[in-house]
Amino acid sequence: MYKIFNFSPGPATIPYEVLKQVQKELINWNNLNVSVMEISHRSSDFINLLQNMKNDLRELIHIPEQYDILFCQGGARTQFAAIPMNLLYYNETADYVNIGHWSLQAINEAKKYCLPNIINPVKKKKDIFYIKKIKNWHLSSNSKYIHYCPNETIEGIAINEEPEEPKLKNKIIIADLSSLILAKEINIKNYGLIYASAQKNIGTAGLTLIIIRKDLIYQNTKKRKEIPSVLDYNIISKHNSMFNTPPTFSLYLSSLILKWLKKIGGIKYISKINQKKSKLLYNAIDQSSFYINKIIPSNRSITNVTFSLQEQKKESFFIKKAQENGLYYLKGHKIIGGLRASIYNAMPIEGVKKLINFMRDFEKNYG
Ligand SMILES: *Cc1c(COP(=O)(O)O)cnc(C)c1O
Repeated sequence: MYKIFNFSPGPATIPYEVLKQVQKELINWNNLNVSVMEISHRSSDFINLLQNMKNDLRELIHIPEQYDILFCQGGARTQFAAIPMNLLYYNETADYVNIGHWSLQAINEAKKYCLPNIINPVKKKKDIFYIKKIKNWHLSSNSKYIHYCPNETIEGIAINEEPEEPKLKNKIIIADLSSLILAKEINIKNYGLIYASAQKNIGTAGLTLIIIRKDLIYQNTKKRKEIPSVLDYNIISKHNSMFNTPPTFSLYLSSLILKWLKKIGGIKYISKINQKKSKLLYNAIDQSSFYINKIIPSNRSITNVTFSLQEQKKESFFIKKAQENGLYYLKGHKIIGGLRASIYNAMPIEGVKKLINFMRDFEKNYG
């Protein structure tokens, strides 16, 4: 059934049956004789789509009533600026945890709008990377929130413990879940705000999901006057995420993926599959001395599996051979090199098994 398996980190693979449905509905959506891209976002058909999406999200990840769902644009990077703009004054402090590339991008952007206190919990012991437990982080007493990225998409390093430490009580936790949302169960109540670009595990580029505790929108007096209206959570919320024209096609596609996820068994089901997929792949890496991953198992990502070859010079050949075998886009990000298999929800376990078989054959033939 699957011709190829696409391990792209983002924009990432989309379930085949969703693509088939898009193809079928492209020129006639909802029996309107037009596509979803060609109608007003204020039409009842589209407003229903948006409302159903919110309902599906609430059901899938158990979003409590006191949280609002906002659909924004500009990707996670826009939120790197929008979050401090919405929640802080210039001279205020927030704790920013740095565990990798996206953490650092968020910090560099936040520096324009506040005084981030940077926490560096990544350590190295005998050439193996690990992350200090949350209970040992040095938080500042005057920080207004704690920002972190639990899953670093590029390095494949992750904070897998939920932010439930007693020391975090009464702190506002903000998390960039771009490459982790919908991949495992989380307790929304642990967070003040979570956000995610859609192109990894929700849908396509152009859409950014924000889940925010309502008091952070409506009782927030911290906001600066110069904040652009399109980034102002209060305005976005009041206009039901339609202050400006929303990315309608991206919303439509994401709505189909949420339906697909509900149909196959929801987060409980998919998180088990994701655990299984990543375990199989890490086992294959660990059992061979040809493939290497230098992250301690408890801090490994379940969605972005990074590895390298003992003999680095063979990596481009590995990528070429993999591609010939229908295993696409395994090249690591240019800033760290190596290899990376992104195995989000839409990657079936068959794809991971095929990759593992390929890795064994490659080692046998060229190792
Ligand atoms: C992809 C990614 C981003 C950047 O997303 P954009 O949509 O390009 O802004 C930010 N954070 C994480 C964790 C990501 O994986």
